[in-house]
Amino acid sequence: MSALQSASGKGQPAATRAYDVVVVGAGFAGMYMLYRLRKQGLSARVYEQGGDVGGTWYWNRYPGARCDVESMQYSYSFDDELQQEWSWSERYAPQPEILNYANHVADRFNLRSDIQFDTRVDRAEFDESANTWSVTTSDGNTVTAKHVVLATGCLSNAKMPDIKGLGDFKGKVYHTGHWPHEPVDFTGLRVGVIGTGSSGIQSVPVIAEQASHLTVFQRTANFSIPARNAALTDEERDSFRSNYREIRRIAREEMRNGIVQEVPDRGALDDGDNERRAKFEARWARGGLTFMGVYNNLALDQAANDTAAGFVRDKIAEIVKDPQTAKLLQPNNHPIGSKRICIDTDYFAAFNRPNVTLVDIKSDPIQQILPHAVRTSAREIEVDALVLATGFDAMTGSVAKIDIRGRNGKTLNGKWAEGPKTYLGLMSAGFPNLFIITGPGSPSVLSNMIVSIEQHVEWISDCIGYMRDRDLVAMEASQDAEDRWVAHVNEVAHTTLYPQANSWYMGANVPGKPQIFMPYIGGVGLYRQICNDVAAKGYEGFVMTAAEPLQRAAS
Ligand code: NAP
Repeated sequence: MSALQSASGKGQPAATRAYDVVVVGAGFAGMYMLYRLRKQGLSARVYEQGGDVGGTWYWNRYPGARCDVESMQYSYSFDDELQQEWSWSERYAPQPEILNYANHVADRFNLRSDIQFDTRVDRAEFDESANTWSVTTSDGNTVTAKHVVLATGCLSNAKMPDIKGLGDFKGKVYHTGHWPHEPVDFTGLRVGVIGTGSSGIQSVPVIAEQASHLTVFQRTANFSIPARNAALTDEERDSFRSNYREIRRIAREEMRNGIVQEVPDRGALDDGDNERRAKFEARWARGGLTFMGVYNNLALDQAANDTAAGFVRDKIAEIVKDPQTAKLLQPNNHPIGSKRICIDTDYFAAFNRPNVTLVDIKSDPIQQILPHAVRTSAREIEVDALVLATGFDAMTGSVAKIDIRGRNGKTLNGKWAEGPKTYLGLMSAGFPNLFIITGPGSPSVLSNMIVSIEQHVEWISDCIGYMRDRDLVAMEASQDAEDRWVAHVNEVAHTTLYPQANSWYMGANVPGKPQIFMPYIGGVGLYRQICNDVAAKGYEGFVMTAAEPLQRAAS
């Protein structure tokens, strides 16, 4: 009996269900994976710990949450009717609209029938004799699958800060990455926001409008560029729609980060001061992530980077009226762009409001949270509510929560204790038939995530199809190919300024986490080419196992 028949058999105890593929997570990656697997006639079960689809956009509902990639580009390309019919309202859609889009996709392709919500995958164990995975979920059931795909997301494991007394606080405590579903109203409240990464920077101006007073606790100042968000016009939408085929091709093949933009042909020091400033001004006026694309060496050359960093620091000083506050808001300990650059709407201007105060917790650290206040070494600040914008255990955090056991009972957590090791970000040696979407070692978080998700999903589904067509029962990364890829990822990262920052790209935001640069910085175009070449050469660097004759007859 094939896995497909067995999975669809009615009346079986759930514990004996066998699928071709178990997918973990129903965010943008898991949904598209399911869509593709179904098209291939494979049986798939998706487990999602949230109550509905959307992944990161299901959890990150904090005030001001928006995408930082333009919505016309941060959207699926796999179905032309879908991209023609969906109408984004703004240049950077707000979270509720992105979640509506995820729901629309789930409805349109009838995905929910194969997704089990409110269910975590707790354990996955590879059975070497059967070449299948045994997957145990939080509802106590166990199923088997020939393949497991981790579509667990890179920024999905909210990180609670380890601050003394947090549990004693009497007011409400919110984490931006785990925001409640019911409306939160800060009107008339004294609010404290801890953390000034993308989430803090997006939420501060919105919370400032509601709160009677907002105190922002900043440990590290961050570079932020104005989003210049605006309603999209019909002409703008139509221009994308009528050119989508080419726009998507360029994003996939020609752009380093999967976002279509002009490719700079000059370095920052090739221009004189006036010309350079004029170019930075133009990008600042345009807004958005493409600020870093004005020159081709901002991520590579410290002196070039200094010109962009200096420009942004000057802008902060122009916007923020109090010189002392402005100085504190000017980042000075990392190259611009080496931490994920933030995109904001009126973040720096929010500090001109009489009801907003900045507290520099580098010089005046938080010592303890009291029932009604935050105590720093110098003062006590009364607050009624706390917002923790303290980020995520990124890229590996959600994978680490699953007890994954591969060959010889070895755990993935044990293998990754010194840092994640993968071949192409797609598989890890010793863990056959276990795929990772946008995992460490792939461009992932350095790119337009949907471009990278679609590439991985298509590569994985092609690979599973290849195995099926040839009666291959197991596939895994060879140790040698993995070692070479890990070295390459590391080597490329160290040709850039990125490793200089204590960023979540490096795992530096989680105490005790090994510090290695996790994503692959070679660019999505080059990376896609490498993956395609590997596949064209019969999955070079992967070891394939053919079915035993008896197994072949039974399948
Ligand atoms: P983040 O960038 O990791 O920022 C976390 C902030 O919390 C940092 O300012 C950090 O300070 C601070 N922090 C952490 N632990 C702390 C502690 N114990 N005490 C005091 N401060 C503490 O997290 P994020 O803002 O949630 O963003 C993470 C990523 O998610 C972004 O880089 C982006 O890729 C993505 N994201 C995207 C969007 C968007 O699309 N627009 C929006 C939100 C997030 P230090 O820097 O000193 O560690």
